[in-house]
Amino acid sequence: MKLQSILENPHKRPIIIAGPCSAETEEQVLQTARELAKQNIDLFRSGIWKPRTRPGSFEGVGAPGLKWLKRVKEETGLKVTTEVAKAEHVYEAFKHNIDVLWLGARTTVNPFSVQEVADAIQGVDIPVLIKNPINPDLGLWIGAIERIYKAGVSRIGVIHRGFSYHGETPYRNVPRWQIAIELKRQFPDLAMICDNSHICGRRDTLFEVAQQAMDLNYDGIMTEVHPTPDEAWSDAKQQITPAQFKELVDQLVFREPTTDNIEFLETLDHLRKEIDHIDNELFNLLAQRMELADSIGQYKKRNNIAILQSSRWNEILETMSAKGQAKGLSKDFVTTILREIHQESINRQEAIMTSQEAKA
Ligand code: PEP
Ligand code: MN
Repeated sequence: MKLQSILENPHKRPIIIAGPCSAETEEQVLQTARELAKQNIDLFRSGIWKPRTRPGSFEGVGAPGLKWLKRVKEETGLKVTTEVAKAEHVYEAFKHNIDVLWLGARTTVNPFSVQEVADAIQGVDIPVLIKNPINPDLGLWIGAIERIYKAGVSRIGVIHRGFSYHGETPYRNVPRWQIAIELKRQFPDLAMICDNSHICGRRDTLFEVAQQAMDLNYDGIMTEVHPTPDEAWSDAKQQITPAQFKELVDQLVFREPTTDNIEFLETLDHLRKEIDHIDNELFNLLAQRMELADSIGQYKKRNNIAILQSSRWNEILETMSAKGQAKGLSKDFVTTILREIHQESINRQEAIMTSQEAKA
């Protein structure tokens, strides 16, 4: 995949995208754009067609709102972007000279919709930003990128807006940073934008998440900005005023992707070698642990004992989790690792049971 920059200036970092969740009125759109133009943002966002979970809530102003975005361009010089989910949206956006298109999370999740949008774009050289699908499925995200790329689009970026999650969480959509990191590992040229608004779903954590993205070397942020957030027709809880957005961006610490400072590189190299050494040791120990699990598996088989011993597993979980936490490791991390190790032991013991059964 040969990707180009989504902005005219390929070196611009961070890429700043801001604007209201939805275009509501011409005045609201223009007022927001005028304020944001003073802050030198790179792209003005505004939802024209809103994919809502249930009918009856505000579903966007539709095509008439595109004229307001055209005015934003004429008056402020800002480039504009909006979400498209159907062929008709793409044609309307083209008619009104929208600069960048984006695919929403509910579109990326559906290959039929992505293909419809890709077919409508076919042959038009416009940058496209692709949000992650609602569910944590990297394959679906990559599939959408491939469909758009095959339509002849080379200026593709991705927007990480978090993933839906059932259970208690401080996020509206849990970030699952590793999924985005893996995408960037596979496609290093993709610009990666963090949509802190839809990850957080609230105002007080927007900065924290944006800073985390910067620390992870993201290329930019997309944040929802509204002149009177509390009165917004959609996503009121997570939108902030242009002034609050300025404060957020001013406070962000932008990290350099790398440096040519020799002393820094040598220190880093030294520390990385130590990490590699420890990783090696970890695998040696894990392999030894699995060999012991195999021996136990054989022993259980000979004595016709079930693989899973709940009381033993509980004991490991409790004592090791406490020991891990005493060493400063988080409970989540310790539990995840222990579960994975335990599952691998079970898989190996199961293989032993069945192979011996085959022999018997
Ligand atoms: C939006 O950007 O307003 C939006 C609907 O986002 P998402 O597709 O991430 O839910
Ligand atoms: Mn929104």
